[in-house]
Amino acid sequence: MKSYVLSLVIAFLTACVGVRGVAQSPSSWTEPFPPHTIAGNLHYVGSRDLASYLITTNEGHILINSSLEESVPLIRASVEKLGFKFADVKVLLISHAHADHCAGSAEIKKLTGARYMVMEGDVPAIESGGAPRKLADYLAFPPAKVDRVLKDGDEVKVGDSVLVAHLTPGHTRGCTTWTMKVRDGGKLLDAVIIGSPNVNPGYILVNNKTYPEIATDYEKCFRVLHSLPVDLFLGAHGSYYDMEKKHALLPTAATNPFIDPEGYRRYVTEREQAFRAEWDKQMGK
Ligand SMILES: [Zn+2]
Repeated sequence: MKSYVLSLVIAFLTACVGVRGVAQSPSSWTEPFPPHTIAGNLHYVGSRDLASYLITTNEGHILINSSLEESVPLIRASVEKLGFKFADVKVLLISHAHADHCAGSAEIKKLTGARYMVMEGDVPAIESGGAPRKLADYLAFPPAKVDRVLKDGDEVKVGDSVLVAHLTPGHTRGCTTWTMKVRDGGKLLDAVIIGSPNVNPGYILVNNKTYPEIATDYEKCFRVLHSLPVDLFLGAHGSYYDMEKKHALLPTAATNPFIDPEGYRRYVTEREQAFRAEWDKQMGK
């Protein structure tokens, strides 16, 4: 990759992370991080900042986010370190059709034979390698065939686990927030994996010719995020939910540090304010 292109990628992807993530260096996307169990059968198998989640069942596993092409060996190693087989990944899901969450999908499909399930609005981007959105050519990634097209509210079931796909559009047309119930000891916890609530630099919210409904889509995104029941607060980047800090608390904390409904509400509220401020600015208010 040419260096000027790389710097654009870095600028864009850093922006994807949002306010807290601005300080993150690009190395955090490819730097290994200890895989860990969040709760029950829900595990973290991503890098220091690009979050990938493994949901394990006795009938195979679900993987959320293939991340960058170079992330694939790292995700595989994390799955194996937790004692599971990469080949047992039966379903591959993503947060949204940006390279930092989906560029590794073609390779993971090849390695595992997993069925790739993507929200309708992101399917054209996924199957063409990011081209139709034309947000920027540097967001291109290897195209991958989608095996099941998802609609808002669709369920993805493997074994005894059920994930619900919530359309939280704006960041991309098919940006997806995943929820599931996780049995942890005697408790049943609500997990929410936020797709992305962020307005990236260069996003046009007013008179956007290729995505005219982008601003009202963001409004829908925030309506949905505010409405979800939450115990476990998770997201497409570890920095959304202070993953590193919470992970460090795991060995000693009396209660699961990933249970953080207040942090979730604070984050969503702050991100909505940032969106509305940018929208006002673009409307000349
Ligand atoms: Zn993104």
